[in-house]
Amino acid sequence: MSKPWLSKAAAQLREQIDDSYPDRKRQSDGWNADANHKRRGKSDHIPDPKANFVVRAIDVDARLSDDKRTSAYLADQIRLYAKRHGRIHYVIHLGMIASPIMNYKWRRYRGYNPHNHHIHISFRKDQDNNSEFFNIPLLGGTNE
Ligand SMILES: [Zn+2]
Repeated sequence: MSKPWLSKAAAQLREQIDDSYPDRKRQSDGWNADANHKRRGKSDHIPDPKANFVVRAIDVDARLSDDKRTSAYLADQIRLYAKRHGRIHYVIHLGMIASPIMNYKWRRYRGYNPHNHHIHISFRKDQDNNSEFFNIPLLGGTNE
């Protein structure tokens, strides 16, 4: 079996988060699904056997800075980026999800975990090899 690897777009976004919040906590970070997660079935954390075992999701610990509101601000900027530029498929944070359903308006997330301790970000399949910079204001980008 091939080794799982992280979508280049996901790796790029995580790098921008690391650069912007170098002292952030990382205990709730993750990307490759553990065995437990895999048994539950469908998740972008599970390596895709049809695409050389790429993983198309990251979890980012919500403790980005001393200001507890930062993760909500960042999740919202990621949401807006997804709405305008694609690349990102959906975002889950603080019991809410933003996805193509309702055109990236936040709506209640009814999954097993409310994602209070991390931001979940899923990336589109056509981004597996796209490591272009994400123009997101909190992550070194500019306001367009
Ligand atoms: Zn996740």
